[in-house]
Amino acid sequence: MMGFRKYVKNIWEAVYTIALGMKITARYGVDPREEITEQYPEDVWEPFERFRGFLHNDVPRCISCSMCARICPVDCIELDSFMGPDKKRVLTRFDINIGRCMFCGLCTEVCPTKCLTHTEGYEGMSSFSRGELTLHFVTEPPEMPPPKEEEEKEEKVKEAVEGPGDAERENEEEKKEEKVGAGAGAAPVNPKNDLAENGREGE
Ligand code: SF4
Ligand code: SF4
Repeated sequence: MMGFRKYVKNIWEAVYTIALGMKITARYGVDPREEITEQYPEDVWEPFERFRGFLHNDVPRCISCSMCARICPVDCIELDSFMGPDKKRVLTRFDINIGRCMFCGLCTEVCPTKCLTHTEGYEGMSSFSRGELTLHFVTEPPEMPPPKEEEEKEEKVKEAVEGPGDAERENEEEKKEEKVGAGAGAAPVNPKNDLAENGREGE
């Protein structure tokens, strides 16, 4: 008798749970308020406040400190810069390989000027080639000063800090020696000759 009761109970529980599941399914199927499938791209999902989308660099505010590139765990940030005339670094290249980026946000955390930020963008980066997944933020790179001027400046700074180099010291010593040698090679003045010549002139 106990076995039969258990058998009937099992049947009842199976029917009840199926009916319960179908009730929820039916509700999602017919009630428009319960729709969970976005009809993309007609319906576009709105990202939440702290969503980490594509990165953006506000280049005029970037000080080329490279902290973002150094902290990036997958090395997807590359940048180049040079020292400007006002002793501020000028950015000539700032690229982010968005195909490699894992949107961890570390680079935005360390950026001292907060010019590097995550946007809400997550669309429009589908591509047939990986090269197209690199974002270039410096579109018109400023002209670098001629390398010679740069070198001269660096040399002057180096001289000011360390003093003249070995080669220059040797040159200076050589010049001094030449001067001394030239003085020693000149014909000695004989006062007697001068007197004799003066006497002849007087005759
Ligand atoms: S979000 Fe992370 S992975 Fe992407 S560039 Fe920044 S540090 Fe690198
Ligand atoms: S950390 Fe910020 S300021 Fe420094 S190079 Fe990166 S984007 Fe520019």
